[in-house]
Amino acid sequence: MQTTLAERLSQLWSKIEEAAKSAGRSPDSITLLAVSKTHPPELIRECVHAGCTLFGESRVQEARAKIQESPARARWHFIGHLQRNKVRQALPLFELFHGIDSLSIAEDIQRIAEEDGQRPAVLLEVNVAGEGSKFGFRPENLRGEIDRILSLDRLEIRGLMAIPPFAPKPEASRAYFVKLRELRESLQNEFSIGLPELSMGMSGDFEVAIQEGATIVRIGTALFGERASSAWRPGAPDS
Ligand SMILES: *Cc1c(COP(=O)(O)O)cnc(C)c1O
Repeated sequence: MQTTLAERLSQLWSKIEEAAKSAGRSPDSITLLAVSKTHPPELIRECVHAGCTLFGESRVQEARAKIQESPARARWHFIGHLQRNKVRQALPLFELFHGIDSLSIAEDIQRIAEEDGQRPAVLLEVNVAGEGSKFGFRPENLRGEIDRILSLDRLEIRGLMAIPPFAPKPEASRAYFVKLRELRESLQNEFSIGLPELSMGMSGDFEVAIQEGATIVRIGTALFGERASSAWRPGAPDS
């Protein structure tokens, strides 16, 4: 890419602002999560200096190493599928867990959070298209499981997250974003709970997601460029 990271960041902020305004929303109601997975700490520092301090990572090990090397004012969300044997390590590292995708992982988090005195904030990942290959609650199952999830008193359930099927055209995601928003509304009403966050929208479709109510957009490629096939590893050279 010819542009600098600071330029791409400011373009992104403008696009987020425009999308928000076109939907009659306040730009302040949308959080940009910079998806830094696979990218080296050098790029994270650059991003922090350019004014964006919130990062999304999808592997605990990789994130832990990067967090140590990053400015203290960087903050971190976990956006991947959390494995049960990584929960204890992960809990102190992340402000929000986007990908809570089954009752059993929620129960593991509850147990470990209780043992370790943690109160993790989480989003429930919904498999909005019912894809067999994807993690996440089926919308039709979530209704049945939500009572059990709500009884896990260590978890602060902040909202829902989804990754629609990949499609080259952003408009193809709209129906799935609508579905997630409507599910949020019906869960809020049926169970008298607040689910303020909707984590949806990535580089290719964040504007549509914002029009449909996203409060967190998770953006990697549009900010950092294409990801290399191999992830950054601690000890490896910085680029
Ligand atoms: C990698 C990733 C993203 C970022 O995708 P881009 O298309 O690079 O913006 C967003 N969300 C999740 C869950 C991811 O794993």
